[in-house]
Amino acid sequence: MEPGKIVASVPGSGVFDTADDNVLPVVSNVPPVFELNPLTPAINIVAPPSRAEQVMNALLKSHPKRIKDIANTDGDWAVELNGKWFFYAEGKILPQNLLPQAGSFNPQPFYNYPKEMPAWKRPDKQEAERLSRLTILRRGGGGQARSQFFYDELWGIHNRADAWEQVKTIRFLDKSILVHHAVLEELALIELQIKREARTNKLVRQWLDGIGSISAWNWRNIADTQSTSNHAYGIAVDIQPKNIRGLETYWLWTSQKREDWWNVPYSARYQPPVAVIKIFESYGFIWGGKWAFYDTMHFEYRPEILALNNIEMTGKY
Ligand SMILES: [Zn+2]
Repeated sequence: MEPGKIVASVPGSGVFDTADDNVLPVVSNVPPVFELNPLTPAINIVAPPSRAEQVMNALLKSHPKRIKDIANTDGDWAVELNGKWFFYAEGKILPQNLLPQAGSFNPQPFYNYPKEMPAWKRPDKQEAERLSRLTILRRGGGGQARSQFFYDELWGIHNRADAWEQVKTIRFLDKSILVHHAVLEELALIELQIKREARTNKLVRQWLDGIGSISAWNWRNIADTQSTSNHAYGIAVDIQPKNIRGLETYWLWTSQKREDWWNVPYSARYQPPVAVIKIFESYGFIWGGKWAFYDTMHFEYRPEILALNNIEMTGKY
């Protein structure tokens, strides 16, 4: 790059998408937008990576056994998986032959995920209106389906029969569950760490003793939508307590009782101990309780989301 040449500081480039319905109203992870002081000569200002580049790098880093390469071709970023190239296409991650039909799909949510839960704050009027609009959209079938070609290929599951070949039954926290074979090691280590933690952490001990049921693989879409749930890939786990003590767990169930489901403070939502959430995250699982559309019993294997938000996976193998 020529010294003194400003390559780009496009407002919004490199800033997290806001269209994703799971985005929490948190801005702490947003990289700073360049502010140029007109009095200082700008020297070697490097453009922040585009969202496409950030996502592709996160995928490459998070799935090293499956993803071998990424490249910038024809002005878009692409990722190679099983010898096929998938283009970012504004978050739709599409194979080349489907690029002309990109308009028929919704993007995959590559969202803002906070390392720590922010303090509870009642959504302001604008945020409440946004959530209300999205609720109506979800209830109406969620619009068109998310583009799932990339994730189908990543997990090797295109239909129910494929899924049966990829999932295995394991014992996890003393329950039998069906999960994708690719996350067996992570779940075994998560269990080991949780049980270790429970020896000295009373909250974790009580949480373990209070587990009612655990479910994982299930051939289904996300409730009320046409999009594949990560339960269908066997990479999501729901841990339900025996006694919910009147707490809320899932926005959709809460919304059947009260329209403003988003106004339920964190203290009135069920949540596993922070130590448990951290152990899951340290092995690449995100917790659904950090979503704006909360699902507090849900964990899913999305190491790319953690990588994208600069959260280190510190779990030891
Ligand atoms: Zn779930």
